[in-house]
Amino acid sequence: FGRLKAGLSRSSSSLGQSISGLFKKRKLDDETLDELEEALIQADLGVAVATEVREALSKGRFGKEIGDDEVKAVLGGEISRILKYSEKPLVVEASRRPHVILMVGVNGSGKTTTIGKLASRFKAQGLKVMMAAGDTFRAAAIEQLAVWGERSGVPVVTRPAGSDAAGLAFDALEQAKREGYDVLLIDTAGRLQNKEGLMAELTKIERVIKKLDESAPHDTILVLDATTGQNAVNQVDVFERVAKITGVIMTKLDGTARGGVLVAVSKKYWMPIHAIGVGEGIDDLQDFNADAFAKALVG
Ligand code: GDP
Repeated sequence: FGRLKAGLSRSSSSLGQSISGLFKKRKLDDETLDELEEALIQADLGVAVATEVREALSKGRFGKEIGDDEVKAVLGGEISRILKYSEKPLVVEASRRPHVILMVGVNGSGKTTTIGKLASRFKAQGLKVMMAAGDTFRAAAIEQLAVWGERSGVPVVTRPAGSDAAGLAFDALEQAKREGYDVLLIDTAGRLQNKEGLMAELTKIERVIKKLDESAPHDTILVLDATTGQNAVNQVDVFERVAKITGVIMTKLDGTARGGVLVAVSKKYWMPIHAIGVGEGIDDLQDFNADAFAKALVG
């Protein structure tokens, strides 16, 4: 929580700071409400959330004197209420043997790192974990996953760069089934420059996986980088069109004041938010908690 709070309140444009002072012994009028709405939009929470918060705050208080603390309490409550719908930890159904998790997202979003963190966490839970280096376009991504594998003592299925990712996913799942693995985490390429290619590849991976297990992939998780702000919403739009996204993990919340976009994503898609990344280390992944997040955001 400390790191999340430090990250979200880092920049001077953080929400709490822009609210502080706005309402010091001021009457709640249209002008102050406009300023609040603007502060919320600046903080990437989106127009829909800003409007909703404005209405909640006005109700029964319009024209009355109001202070920062009350505004923050209402704001935190509203944000937490919206985020509650998305509070859904990632649960591995080991009985599926394996539970197959497909990780998608644009290059640089933190996909590989997050797979490494999840693998380490599942292993600590006593599960038998396998990773597949499905971003076969980038040699660096393959190497990086191999390093995470060594770090956490989890086997990584790899092929040379340029190999067919779907073939790799198929082989990995076959091996995981044969050897009784509980969970298989599959990395994928995130080349947004070529949407047709991206769609074709993800569709093919899903198709070959289903040949071995009709119910797989059991989760398709979109990894979003908080520092991209409002752009994260566009990424959900794009990936919703190319894959059946079942949940989201947002990374880099330790280093940004732009975490407000998570509220916009939650409000727009009502999608499970499984976890948040708060650093580059193997343990820097936390289950998403709506109340804690709202508190850190509002300050
Ligand atoms: P990929 O291209 O989507 O696989 O992204 P990577 O996993 O390679 O991550 C890109 C960069 O972001 C790397 O330098 C990671 O160390 C860094 N990164 C990933 N997650 C986090 C996080 O939660 N916090 C911070 N500060 N950095 C992160």
